[in-house]
Amino acid sequence: MDNITASEVAGFGVGAVLLCATVAATKVDAFFSSSQRSSLGMCKRCGNLRRLACSTCKGTGSIREGGILGIKLVEDLFETIGNSEPKVKQIACVKCQAKGYFSCPNCSEL
Ligand SMILES: [Zn+2]
Ligand SMILES: [Zn+2]
Repeated sequence: MDNITASEVAGFGVGAVLLCATVAATKVDAFFSSSQRSSLGMCKRCGNLRRLACSTCKGTGSIREGGILGIKLVEDLFETIGNSEPKVKQIACVKCQAKGYFSCPNCSEL
């Protein structure tokens, strides 16, 4: 330990602090529930992101034609046949107008 310089010690200290801060931030983020967000003045619905991911298209803005339940079966079928061009089209999600998210109703009122 004799050959460790002061700057190396300082560097280690800063690294440790940064690591702790990162871990703490991750835990704090996971720890926040919607009620805690509201108590902190954050939006309950979006956590101040001002947008909510579309549940229909999972935020991608497009869905596969044929509905949710038929997709996997059709894909499996085409894989079995060896057809590399499955005829499942991507269509724009009508629920979110293909944006993949909505403006948060709570925040857009402000
Ligand atoms: Zn959508
Ligand atoms: Zn909001």
